[in-house]
Amino acid sequence: MTRNYTRSVELFEKAKKVIPGGVNSPVRAFKSVDSTPLFIERGEGPFVYDADGNEYVDYVCSWGPLILGHRHPRVVEALKRCLDETGTSFGAPTEFENVLAGMIVDAVPSVEMVRLVNSGTEAVMSALRLARGYTNRNKIVKFEGCYHGHADYLLIKAGSGALTLGVPTSPGVTAGTAADTINAEYNDLTYLDELFRKQGEDIAAVIVEPVAGNMGVVPPAAGFLEGLRRLTREYGSLLIFDEVMTGFRVAYGGAQQLYGVTPDLTCLGKVIGGGLPVGAYGGSVKIMEQVSPAGPVYQAGTLSGNPLAVTAGIATLKMLNQPGVYESLEEKSAKLAGRLTDAAGETGVEVSFNRVSSMLCVFFTGAKVKNYVNACLSNTQRYTAFFKSMLEQGIYLAPSQFEAAFISLAHSDKELEKTAEAARSAFRAAMA
Ligand code: PLP
Repeated sequence: MTRNYTRSVELFEKAKKVIPGGVNSPVRAFKSVDSTPLFIERGEGPFVYDADGNEYVDYVCSWGPLILGHRHPRVVEALKRCLDETGTSFGAPTEFENVLAGMIVDAVPSVEMVRLVNSGTEAVMSALRLARGYTNRNKIVKFEGCYHGHADYLLIKAGSGALTLGVPTSPGVTAGTAADTINAEYNDLTYLDELFRKQGEDIAAVIVEPVAGNMGVVPPAAGFLEGLRRLTREYGSLLIFDEVMTGFRVAYGGAQQLYGVTPDLTCLGKVIGGGLPVGAYGGSVKIMEQVSPAGPVYQAGTLSGNPLAVTAGIATLKMLNQPGVYESLEEKSAKLAGRLTDAAGETGVEVSFNRVSSMLCVFFTGAKVKNYVNACLSNTQRYTAFFKSMLEQGIYLAPSQFEAAFISLAHSDKELEKTAEAARSAFRAAMA
């Protein structure tokens, strides 16, 4: 049976006339899978429904925030109460902000004080400004394949040959900006040792996704995060964990709880907004008190701490802070990974699975994926065929090989089984 996507196609044509590329964030355009996007009409639990009325089991989950699934009753109730009784924005402090900040401080090991912002990008930009202000140094180190939002100095890739000289990945980013960003390879401490020996005194911060989720899913190798902690401490640089994706996802206290490595600053987003726009950055009181108005490092926001967004975040974290929640997510995710591995095995397709908790990626390569270079060995044509076959069977995966699939608490055995069943023929389609 072929699904009808007519209305989505029509809406995309209209969108392209008034929105660049028809979308408000590039990956949504389905370009990497040689297709056009579904226009989503509504979500419910583990499902989304498109404008043509097709139902899909959703593994995009709004790119991570919807760990409870769509329209969780507690989140909806909190939002309704906020609309009925509170209001949408004041630009003045509210008690909600104290509550969410307190929950983050209680949960995340490195965070004694936290500032709420509106997106992951903003959290990272602000944390890096703070790191530079605090250390009085300019250079930052990031890792190839990690994504930290779209601030100019993070849209930088390694230049050919000279790993230390960054090159802008987008027009509009100046060479001057790129000069202060150093790219390194994920999971490789040898290069970093040498880099710090040569330039350690100039490095304000190392920023890392403690589990990389923007080149597919790539877990940290044993000792990698510890090595970053040791080097940054030795040279007086700050270690920043970008936990925008992993925060409250891989564990209630994020990847830093899971791996037992405590950074100086932590960036959050996604889950802490429960599906509304929120970001946050936090760390020790000593560092965070450098932020304006307590200290000299400026950072502000008209809608920061917005009551609706903060309310959705509080409701989400309350649900996550119940006994057994992460065990249940782990069980569902392990089950799905197991079934998918079996399905791939039956077909003989070359794939490599990476999973950390409820973040999962099927790379279409036989090689173990430990960094960006390995991830790029994936056969993206095969992923495209796999993706399309899954979509046709009612499974909505990320429209790119280099993204994670997110499992939510709303995914039941039934949906997981349906996914594994669909994968059987999708793996076959990938090999055709
Ligand atoms: N950092 C990480 C690790 C992310 O995955 C993302 C977004 O996917 C960001 C930062 C940027 O967050 P936002 O899209 O909310 O600006």
